[in-house]
Amino acid sequence: MRLSSRITNLLGGGSDGWEVFNRARALKAEGVDIIELTIGEHDIRTDPRILDEMHRSARAGHTGYASVPGINSLRDAVAARITQQTKSLTTRDNIVITTGGQAGLFAAHAAICDPGDAALYIDPYYATYPGLIRGTGAVACAVQARPENGFQPDIADISAAANGAKSLLINSPNNPTGVVYSLQTMQAIADWCRDTGTWLISDEVYDTQIWNGAHISAWSIPEIREQCLVVNSMSKSFAMTGSRIGWVLGPEDTIDHLINLSTHTTYGVPGFIQDAASFALTQCPGLEEAIAAPFRRRRDIALNILKNSNLVRNVPCDGAMYLMLDIRATGMSGEAFANALLDECALAVMPGESFGQAAAGHLRVAMTVADEIFQDALTRLIHFAEGHT
Ligand code: PLP
Repeated sequence: MRLSSRITNLLGGGSDGWEVFNRARALKAEGVDIIELTIGEHDIRTDPRILDEMHRSARAGHTGYASVPGINSLRDAVAARITQQTKSLTTRDNIVITTGGQAGLFAAHAAICDPGDAALYIDPYYATYPGLIRGTGAVACAVQARPENGFQPDIADISAAANGAKSLLINSPNNPTGVVYSLQTMQAIADWCRDTGTWLISDEVYDTQIWNGAHISAWSIPEIREQCLVVNSMSKSFAMTGSRIGWVLGPEDTIDHLINLSTHTTYGVPGFIQDAASFALTQCPGLEEAIAAPFRRRRDIALNILKNSNLVRNVPCDGAMYLMLDIRATGMSGEAFANALLDECALAVMPGESFGQAAAGHLRVAMTVADEIFQDALTRLIHFAEGHT
């Protein structure tokens, strides 16, 4: 029996970019001692206080169907956080709670794009972007942010690729590059979207992981607010990746439609998870900073190790839990480097090519292991590069 082309073409005929990761996991399962610097998963678990609240809520009976838009206390807590961060008055009516940022990204594109519409996204990109866009029936169109521009997107490149696109998806702080979009970049993108009538979808799941400069939320730019959806979640900020809870922020009338979509797809997020998220946002001051702190520390460790290397250079990494390393001076592709590094040094990193053509000749390193292991891994990586040139 035939399946929809929407599903069968989700990967666009290419690979899903996870080959090195899958190989590393297979070797690990065979008992090989692999250091994994691959996925964006913290090396700590969800804070026990949040788990206690989840348990308390479930025991109190919040195990039935929960409010589909999100419980009021959580929507209010999210709105207060956004108002405080962006200085833009935000209410619960601007927010729908989703099953993580991932579902929020899908819902945002489903709300904006009809089948066949072009939807732009910036390359290098978080690996699921083209697939989630195709999953809505839209046509995924990459715009390269080039290494020579420090991976900041250029409006001329966006314009050249636009071709009547309905939406532009951006991500700052960025996965995989660790680049934080400057105020100038954000303002130029907002102006371009307003001038061309294009929706801006801003993925801000790393907004608490800023090592240098400031995070500029799309929501803080008044001119764009009526045509902007911001996606965020508790995954990275509160180490709640497995709880699958996030939100979409946007104009009230659009959020009403997204609530309808939730009613007809997920039917909301479990009440005990929502209670725990609300608790985390209101009763755990300082926790987000504490969760971000090890990545900041490891980034400093990395910069110190890398400063003497001519072969392995770091892309300016001002945020997120990743480092992007430029290994073009070795003459190897990211894929060849990452595969050989896994085989020869039992060290797993992601090839830049997994995240699009703009990151060819680069590696993404997740800073998600203890400091000493991280330091040792980077030292090994540099020795490996020196031994292969
Ligand atoms: N957006 C980016 C850029 C990510 O890196 C990730 C996860 O790694 C997500 C969205 C999805 O996050 P969530 O766990 O909130 O679904």
